Amino acid sequence: MSVTVDPAVYRQRIARVRAAMFEQDVDVLLLSVGHDLPYLIGYEAMPLERLTMLVLPREGTPTLVLPRLEAPRVRRMPDLFDVHPWNETDDAVAIVATLASKASVAAIGDQTWGRFVVELLPAMPDTQFRRAVEVVGPLRSRKDPAEIEALRAAGAAVDRIAGALQRGEIPLVGRTEAQVSADLSARILAEGHDVVNFAIVAAGENAASPHHHAGSRVIRAGELVLCDFGGTMNGYCSDITRCVYLGTPTGEIAEAYEVLHTAQQAAVAAAIVGTPCEVVDAVARRIIAEAGLGEFFVHRTGHGIGLEAHEEPYIVSGNRLALSAGHAFSIEPGIYLPGQWGMRLEDIVVATQQGPDPMNCADHRLVALDV
Ligand code: ZN
Ligand code: ZN
Ligand code: ZN
Repeated sequence: MSVTVDPAVYRQRIARVRAAMFEQDVDVLLLSVGHDLPYLIGYEAMPLERLTMLVLPREGTPTLVLPRLEAPRVRRMPDLFDVHPWNETDDAVAIVATLASKASVAAIGDQTWGRFVVELLPAMPDTQFRRAVEVVGPLRSRKDPAEIEALRAAGAAVDRIAGALQRGEIPLVGRTEAQVSADLSARILAEGHDVVNFAIVAAGENAASPHHHAGSRVIRAGELVLCDFGGTMNGYCSDITRCVYLGTPTGEIAEAYEVLHTAQQAAVAAAIVGTPCEVVDAVARRIIAEAGLGEFFVHRTGHGIGLEAHEEPYIVSGNRLALSAGHAFSIEPGIYLPGQWGMRLEDIVVATQQGPDPMNCADHRLVALDV
């Protein structure tokens, strides 16, 4: 994260996380790689074989255990947490186990490396382990106004790139998917993102694979090209999908896209505070199914977004969580005909008391480009 957050914000987040720990009978949080750690103290663990772990007890001072060589990167906030740097020959797992020794229930981050979990379990034999996402996830998923503005800025940046794509300013015909992906990536950075998270470019039959890896396939006239791209800007993620058609779309593709467009807009409109996530998914799914294309919509309607590109809440069948104000998520139905073509339409939306607030406004139609 490259933003400087007021320590008061971290203080409030730690207080809220502790209230959730009390409610859920969790004695200590153990946070390593992933975004719970930066959310709470502004420090991101290096994904290394050397252990970084915040030991956050329900009461008392949290301690950030980390390799001594990483210590200079920590923004010290002594009122909020202690720092315990360890030396190359120290046993970092033993340090964590000692700090957390009194805990009967520990909640550990999903992305903690397996090797550390394997070592921690026997080092804390009397402790029951749970997932920290159950404690921190619900808090992280409801964005505060500053977080929503960060999502909006990142969304506006990728909207401008989508606009360039739809105006034909990004050459497609005769170039490989990989070349166009590199072009999109450069634009993501030029628009102010700190990192590129992905830039999927899928032409023709390749678009039938939702997470297609852009490759050496040359884009030709008479094809639909799907572009799904995003990055991280001031700590928060963007994620948008738009499709363009090179020439005049066939009747089959134009009709399917109309169905997709209707389904996506209906799901956005359904994303109202109080509505269960699975109902939003069902709204999009029903429209696509009623058009006879249900079997080709092979994934959930969306995912939460924030510090991470995919986080809670998931807009998926079975998730009965009701949307609340500040929930930020994608609405991205797709239709994929194996071996033929694929299409997806994706916006990021924030649920607010005033209704769904879209972070993306680029033209939702299937734009036909002259070739
Ligand atoms: Zn995805
Ligand atoms: Zn996407
Ligand atoms: Zn997405």
